[in-house]
This record gives sequence, C-alpha cells and structure tokens, in this order.
Amino acid sequence: MQNKVALIGIPYDENSSFCKGPAKAPNIIKQTLLTGSLNKGCENGQLIDVGKNVELLPDITVANPNFFFETIEQQVCQYLEQGYRLVTLGGDHSISYPIINAYNKFYPDLTIIHIDAHSDLYHEFKGNLYSNASPFARIMENKLATGLHQFGIRTLTEHQRKQANKFNVHVNEMKDWPNKLPNLDGPLYISIDIDAIDPAFAPGVSHREPGGLSSRELINIIHQVSGIVVGIDIVEFNPDKDIDNLTANLAAKLVKETLGKLLAHINS
Ligand code: MN
Ligand code: MN
Repeated sequence: MQNKVALIGIPYDENSSFCKGPAKAPNIIKQTLLTGSLNKGCENGQLIDVGKNVELLPDITVANPNFFFETIEQQVCQYLEQGYRLVTLGGDHSISYPIINAYNKFYPDLTIIHIDAHSDLYHEFKGNLYSNASPFARIMENKLATGLHQFGIRTLTEHQRKQANKFNVHVNEMKDWPNKLPNLDGPLYISIDIDAIDPAFAPGVSHREPGGLSSRELINIIHQVSGIVVGIDIVEFNPDKDIDNLTANLAAKLVKETLGKLLAHINS
C-alpha cells in the first residue's frame, strides 16, 4: 500500500547538455520550503507538515556517473517497496528515466504527464543516450509508460516530431494553448521541467525559452489533472541563473502544491 508521502533530492547534473547548476537545486528548494516564508496550506486544502505527514528522505547521491542509472533506480525501488509516493527534486531531467524505470516495476500501467518547454525525445544528444534531452525517448522505447502527454512544448524539431509520432506521444504545443487535459484514470506520474514556465516567472533555468506557461497555468494543470498521482519530479531549476530567488520560491510553491496533490489521494 503506497500510503506515505516523501520529498527526496537527487543533486545530479552530469547529463546537462548545456550548463551545470541543477545539482544545487534540491538543497535550495528544501531551504526555501522550510524557512517559513511560505505557509503550510495547499490550495486544495491539505496542510503540509514536513516531518509528520511528509517525510524528508536523504538525497540520492550518484558517486560514479557510470552508475547513475542503477544508483537512482535501486534507491527509488527501495522507497516504493516501503510504500512511499515521492516528490523528487532534480537535478537535470535525465534522472526521470531511472526513476520511471523503478516506478514501472510497481505500476506497469503508468501514464505520464510531462510538462516542459522541450519534448526531451532526442534519440541521443551530443552522443549521450542519457542526456537531459533524451529521457522520454528512453522511457518510450522501453515501454515504461502506457501513455505520454506533454504540455508546455515550444521547441519541436523535425527529428522530435518523428520521435513523437513513432512513440505515439500526445504533444500539446504552447502555440495551441489553452490545451485540453486528457481524461485519465489509473496511476499517474507527473514530470515537471521548470523551463516549461515562462522565463519571466522562472528565470532560473539553463534553457530560457520565452512563450511558456504562467505559474498559475502550471499550478492549475496540477490541480485539474485526473488520475491517481503516484509520483512527481521537479527538475532543471538552475540556481546559478536565478534572480533574487524567484525561481527557488516558485519551485518551493510547486513542491507544496504537488505534495498537496499526493496527500489528497492518500487521505481520500
Ligand atoms: Mn526543458
Ligand atoms: Mn526537460
């Protein structure tokens, strides 16, 4: 029975294709969440009490980049076995592949909502199959999800359109915003790349792509999406690019609202 909610960090950015920095994110987001500047109430009525209804698990540290995949997958499997639903803080987006590989063992019929400026469907990027530009290519070719629904997308190349067709990905592009949310039931995983949000709201990312979602629009997607949420990741916040902790604060707000979503499912 997956009835415990926890927050965990993976400070890893060795698969960043452009610049490093996201490894520093988990600590800063946790600090921001716990300083007391944000209140504990979630918009859906849940109350976050870290240490009580939300556990803070130790970071997963990847000592050897050659074993990044195995290290993350094994640790996540252990926590799923113990009955946790996790909100995971990246890190670059490459961590989603080993996380979802672990989830697939417990939820073979997992659907994924992926919110990002980029579709991250490159077969490989700069020769790296594990690049932060490729996790959803790996996830789909290994059949780790029964459906992949993407939102926030505004950078599709011809190659990525072909990949999306090949894997039957439901790509909702920003140019067509507002998009309709799919009607889902069953287990759902939400992967949030901070660069999905417009850089006016979230400057602290490695790839600033204008024309994105507002903070409000992203939070409403989280509130409105159907299905039973069993895991969430929040990745690609780059503190080196942030301005006056704006993005840190937004990431902490997203942590709060996503934890609220998990708690609501467990308490219902
Ligand atoms: Mn992105
Ligand atoms: Mn991404």
